[in-house]
Amino acid sequence: MAQLLFKDVNKVYPNGYHAVHDFNMEIKDGEFICLVGDSGCGKSTTLRMIAGLEDITAGEFYIDGKLANQMTSRERGIAMVFQSYALYPHLTVYENLAFGLMLEGIDADVIEEKVQATAKILGLTDYLERFPRNLSGGQCQRVAVGRALIRKVSIFLMDEPLSNLDAKQRVTMRSEIKQIHRSVGATTIYVTHDQTEAMTMSDRIVVMKSGGYVQQIGTPFELYFYPKNLFVAGFIGEPPMNFLNGKVESGKFVNGAGLCFDIKPIVKDVASIEGREVVFAFRPEAIKLAKGGKAGKDEYLIEAQVDLTELLGDTTNVYANVGDVNVILKVNPHDTPEMGAAFKFCVPHKAAYVYDKETEEAVPSDVQRQ
Ligand code: ADP
Repeated sequence: MAQLLFKDVNKVYPNGYHAVHDFNMEIKDGEFICLVGDSGCGKSTTLRMIAGLEDITAGEFYIDGKLANQMTSRERGIAMVFQSYALYPHLTVYENLAFGLMLEGIDADVIEEKVQATAKILGLTDYLERFPRNLSGGQCQRVAVGRALIRKVSIFLMDEPLSNLDAKQRVTMRSEIKQIHRSVGATTIYVTHDQTEAMTMSDRIVVMKSGGYVQQIGTPFELYFYPKNLFVAGFIGEPPMNFLNGKVESGKFVNGAGLCFDIKPIVKDVASIEGREVVFAFRPEAIKLAKGGKAGKDEYLIEAQVDLTELLGDTTNVYANVGDVNVILKVNPHDTPEMGAAFKFCVPHKAAYVYDKETEEAVPSDVQRQ
């Protein structure tokens, strides 16, 4: 069992760089947590503080209620999988898996049993005598996971473990890691810059922004449907959310492209944002083409011009202009508007968001999104 608690955890590197600001979170036993954000936002630093590989400059970090700031890595009961695999090239798969246990002085027959059991879980039984150079990237990654898994720890840390694999292997390993997590049940903290990985694997996601600032912590569902600010709105979802700048006048969103939407139905208190610069936002996949050029009840109507279309098979990405703003829309391939054509699409009220341009925070809303 491992429950983790962070209280105002900060990291300042010796050169003075403040890499993580006031990290606060409680992680439940057995949770799968992804730290996600662009390169350099402090994900690895946070992971390394959990591992005991970096000192915590300020704040408190608890494991199962015990202050862990000063604990050694070993005392913390963690195993870590790195991006680089960090396998021993001169050892076989068997020896790589067994190495940590041998160092701990565990009996050879117990090691044999554990290696065989771990190899079975990871589909490595037929490769135990091979050296890493004779394995594919995916197999090396499995050995790296196996080496962590075999130690039966209660906290599993993974730093971009799939980034050296090709797209297909990544998808396969993603579900394998999820399955392993389900069967082993160790609390897992997983670092990635890939929002799809985070969305598909996590119980909860921590979105971080450069400078080491946590933006939002929530389930994939919460982050997708209720992004708290413009950063999260733009980070979660692929293609990203569309943003149209404008202003609130007489309770309406208006902008230079001639849009004029009554936003009372989608914000709690429209008077509180009267006169403010705001961003009207919607996801590419949330729109519908306007049949007959008209919006239905509880929909906003937007006119656009097609720039480019991209057939993906099950869907078409339409790159279009709304005024002078580029948007991306997902449409049914059978309904794809012609290149260069003007067309209209609708944004259902429940899929429309308003953000304050200055604070970048979501304007409070009671809309049920799903
Ligand atoms: P991420 O994992 O999100 O890519 P990191 O946690 O590796 O980001 O790094 C966060 C920031 O801290 C980066 O700007 C990085 O350059 C800086 N950084 C990392 N390690 C050190 C260090 N040892 N000394 C100074 N700055 C560092």
